Amino acid sequence: MSGGSYEYICNRDSQELAESYGDPLTNMLERLLGLGYANDAATETQGVIDDLAELRALMARIDRRMRPVQQVWRAMEWWDSMDSSEEGFRRALEEWRLARQPKHVIEQRGNRAHCTHCDNEMGWHCSESPDGVCHTFCTDGKIVLLNGDKVDPKPGTDTDADFGECLFCGKSEEDR
Ligand SMILES: [Zn+2]
Ligand SMILES: [Zn+2]
Repeated sequence: MSGGSYEYICNRDSQELAESYGDPLTNMLERLLGLGYANDAATETQGVIDDLAELRALMARIDRRMRPVQQVWRAMEWWDSMDSSEEGFRRALEEWRLARQPKHVIEQRGNRAHCTHCDNEMGWHCSESPDGVCHTFCTDGKIVLLNGDKVDPKPGTDTDADFGECLFCGKSEEDR
């Protein structure tokens, strides 16, 4: 019997196991399975292994999500500890907002708007819309452009309706 090959997982909690490298749990699983009479304990061990894999994936997702907005947190930390001003915070906020916007680059192809950045068809090309694409409806009373900017529709526009007409150039599907 070799001692310590399981890195004392018997004493660890889930956080320690999620952060640990090497595979003491897999060693434990194989040892239990090898006995032939401890399959129920092996099954439970496999369940823990699966849960830990999910936990690691979730932690990676949180890290990916958190990283950009941490710049905003950092600026707030600096602002509130008086190492920086509100101006610095506003700048960090603005940079974060800019960075998270989808950066579409619209090119006219026939009467369609094509994004050369993500290679997607973005809709009808519009010569009057600020983002080059026709918009036919409002969200919360505003026209939301591709980059997230919100624009007021012309006065008198029914902001609850989608008649299929562009709110900028007025063209409908039949006009194309
Ligand atoms: Zn794009
Ligand atoms: Zn249009």
